[in-house]
Amino acid sequence: MFHPAPRATKIVATLGPASSDPGILERMLRAGVNVVRVNFSHGTAAEHAETVRRVRELAERLRQSVGVLADLQGPKIRIGKFADGRITLAAGDRFKFDVDGAPGDQTRVGLDYPELVNDVKPGDTLLLDDGRMMMRVDRTTPREIECTVIQGGVLSNRKGINRQGGGLSAPALTSKDMEDIKTAIGFEADFIAVSFPKNAADMYMARELMRASGGRALMIAKIERYEAIGNLEEILKASDGIMVARGDLAVEVGDAAVPALQKRMIRMAKELNKVTITATQMMESMIESPVPTRAEVSDVANAVLDGTDAVMLSAETAAGKYPVETIEAMARVCVEADRSEVKPLDAAFLSRTFTRIDQTIAMSALFVAHHMKVKAVVSLTQSGSTALWMSRIDSGVPIYALTPEEASRRRMCLYREVHPIVMTYHAQEREALLLEAEQRLVDAGIVERGDLIALTIGEPIGKSGGTNTLKIVRVGEHGG
Ligand code: PGA
Ligand code: MN
Repeated sequence: MFHPAPRATKIVATLGPASSDPGILERMLRAGVNVVRVNFSHGTAAEHAETVRRVRELAERLRQSVGVLADLQGPKIRIGKFADGRITLAAGDRFKFDVDGAPGDQTRVGLDYPELVNDVKPGDTLLLDDGRMMMRVDRTTPREIECTVIQGGVLSNRKGINRQGGGLSAPALTSKDMEDIKTAIGFEADFIAVSFPKNAADMYMARELMRASGGRALMIAKIERYEAIGNLEEILKASDGIMVARGDLAVEVGDAAVPALQKRMIRMAKELNKVTITATQMMESMIESPVPTRAEVSDVANAVLDGTDAVMLSAETAAGKYPVETIEAMARVCVEADRSEVKPLDAAFLSRTFTRIDQTIAMSALFVAHHMKVKAVVSLTQSGSTALWMSRIDSGVPIYALTPEEASRRRMCLYREVHPIVMTYHAQEREALLLEAEQRLVDAGIVERGDLIALTIGEPIGKSGGTNTLKIVRVGEHGG
């Protein structure tokens, strides 16, 4: 059976109670989840390890590559619990946050971060529950923050609290995060997302801890602090990728600033050969509804047009009523947006110079893909770095990355336009190996006899980072 070009934009789905049923999880993977996100803001280490074990087992049975993203909680400041679970506040009401551990009531609630009392001053605006509720600070004492409600609503247990304009002193890595990095490396997470980094140093520290635990995960910086915007370039350079974490970011910088920032972040990340995930509320209404709104469809499609590697689902798949339908809808929107714009090869690309041989070969393959209208770019790779270079520039041609390395396949699950394929190198000699690769693609229904493909390979075979050869092949017409 012959398949049309696969979806270029990847889908990250957060797991939670809504996806804990094995049947649902299987349907979610089949519907096209590329990376699952385990959220350390909820649940225990043992629960996450078990979730990941089940995902890996299922992925193997379905013969599908699925990456695992461990998302650290970070210094997200949360309110405590209420005696009755929730309260309702109206504009003009007085309310207090304090460092008291007792359950909250209509007049006060505790905070899990006592330092907040020192970080805010009268006149500041505090936003709760991702900005759904707003309060003005009237007065602070060493033990309390007294506020007036500006925007009321329902406030329930453990909701997040942010200060508009940023400026909170909390370090990016809490002691819980440090433990969670060990847990994540224990289950071989492919990606670790650091919440609320302010600068490059936060990312270096997280990477050090990850390495010290013996891990090889890619480090993703969640851009969700006011300060991170000013330090975007250094954060990108210290990371393997970023998440446009629109929930907290909107609260810190103002919601209206986020769409333009999203475009800037994605553009800058690509220029620096980094990966991007666009996140939060992408299909929010599908928590309760089997169909998305027009605005959500446009939001997902626009993220694709911005060039994001992946779009992410949060509560939609973790706690929603329609996790499978949400993935199906998102995949459908991505597929159409992926191919809706035929982009000319970036003029800047043509004048760029490269010093690395593997990068030069990767770029040459894209040049060929663009000029000869090849059906596929095929990379025989060890680490996946050739596929990463290739996927930083939109050529509109799918990139198939053949590798025997499972860890490489799993990380490539996040790269736009890259499709990892299992390949056990039997042949050691180049021609035989290329024939083997070609056969693998024909068997998978990816190419047919007569199709043109651009192949990259490194010699000697099997060495990482050694891509040095580009070959243009018409399938089934091997001349050696
Ligand atoms: P969160 O991060 O879901 O962990 O808060 C994403 C965001 O803030 O948008
Ligand atoms: Mn966040």
